[in-house]
Amino acid sequence: MSETLEYAPTDREQSFLSTVEDTRHERNIINSLAPFLDERAPEDMRGLYTSNELIQLRVLKGTERDVEKRMPVKITRHYFELAKSSAPIRRIVKADPEETQDLAGSEDPGFQMDYSPVEGMLHKYEMGLLYVVSTCSAHCRFCYREELIARKEITRQDGTVAKKGLAAIPEVTAYIGRFNAEVAANGGRHPVCGREKLREVLMSGGDPMVLNNSKIAAWLAALAEAGVESIRIGTKEMAFYPERFDEAFVSMLDRFHESYPEVGLHIVVHFEHPDEFLAKDADGQYVRNPTGFLQWVPATGAAMRRLVQRGWLSIENQSPIIKGINDDPDALRILQREFKRAGGENHYFFCGRDIVAYRSFNVPMERAWHILNESQKGLSGIENHARLSITHYKGKTEVNAVTNTPIPGLAGSENGVVIFKILRNAGNAADRGKVCIVGRNPEALWFDGYDDRVLYDEAGLYTYSRVKSARVTHAAPSPGCR
Ligand code: SF4
Repeated sequence: MSETLEYAPTDREQSFLSTVEDTRHERNIINSLAPFLDERAPEDMRGLYTSNELIQLRVLKGTERDVEKRMPVKITRHYFELAKSSAPIRRIVKADPEETQDLAGSEDPGFQMDYSPVEGMLHKYEMGLLYVVSTCSAHCRFCYREELIARKEITRQDGTVAKKGLAAIPEVTAYIGRFNAEVAANGGRHPVCGREKLREVLMSGGDPMVLNNSKIAAWLAALAEAGVESIRIGTKEMAFYPERFDEAFVSMLDRFHESYPEVGLHIVVHFEHPDEFLAKDADGQYVRNPTGFLQWVPATGAAMRRLVQRGWLSIENQSPIIKGINDDPDALRILQREFKRAGGENHYFFCGRDIVAYRSFNVPMERAWHILNESQKGLSGIENHARLSITHYKGKTEVNAVTNTPIPGLAGSENGVVIFKILRNAGNAADRGKVCIVGRNPEALWFDGYDDRVLYDEAGLYTYSRVKSARVTHAAPSPGCR
């Protein structure tokens, strides 16, 4: 039986938390397909689906191909307004009968649960990731966390079957404290795995920004008190409901920074397409101001400015490249250029993961590389920082290069090669920088598309075997070390 831990905030924590103000937000969310099917959605929003689409989706209800069994439908009024003039945005949130045509894929993409030392927390890299909530203001059809958001039961490595749980402050802070104490007692490296302090945490989910300010503040302060040096908030709220980044929220961040000035804070947003933040005219063209600059959607621009004005935090964007949404070099070029101009940093673009139904969403890996490469032609050095990453079970891996001509003397490279490079891997990142070279397969959506054409594998991507579960008690060696 698991013990229930108590958490007692410190005086500094309480003093910060007492300053936090919660505001009420009316996101005007439509939750699930039912309001569309039953015509209970506001009249002007019903047109999001054609009657033909609704007939097809209704037929699938309750069957194996029920789109909402895979991923529940959810959309905010703000996002609906953007969707009216944007096919890519509609594709992000609209359920499509096609998406359950082929349900191949993993219920636990990346075997994430192999790295979960306490419920709701992953500790694979030098940082920890927390599932602090299991929903977002709207839901992307291609979500990598569909098993969490749809509250699916998944099989864990020990054979038990359960829904993914959410992180809780007492358990997470106790784990961080234990792990870091073992590191400190051993001169700065963990005695078993050799890793350094767990110094960075990503608050994720779901979207932490659906929580109220008090809850977010409680997490920030508890993590800071646990010795975490850098905290990221991963969110798509800037696209779904930018009004959430209001004065009360940024003032909570200000108070946090005053209380814990040594702790780094990073907001990692998720814009897939420039249609999510650039204003459009009645003809669907981006609006330019009198001096020729592209104009942001007013609420999104205001949200971005509020964050950018806080010079002590960073705002980064990361996004997957998804079929029919942003597999478009021109759109990605505008996205990267405009996001940087507004003060953000372009972080990663991702190849789609092996989620359930991934064939509906994933762009072949080589094509994704080509799209990003094309999009970065004409961008300046400070605009083109983003790399293309694909999350191998072993760790974050860059699709580093795709060649078109054979490498002289290298059998299997007749059509060119793909070079993968490990960016981060579990534990102390021993394999960072190592590469794997495979012969090209333009159809490959996932690593297994290259199983029969590995030419050189210093990185060990094709000899990888799963770690033993990291779900161990603190009495056992090396929690989270693998
Ligand atoms: S915002 Fe992120 S977590 Fe939420 S549905 Fe979209 S991809 Fe999934």
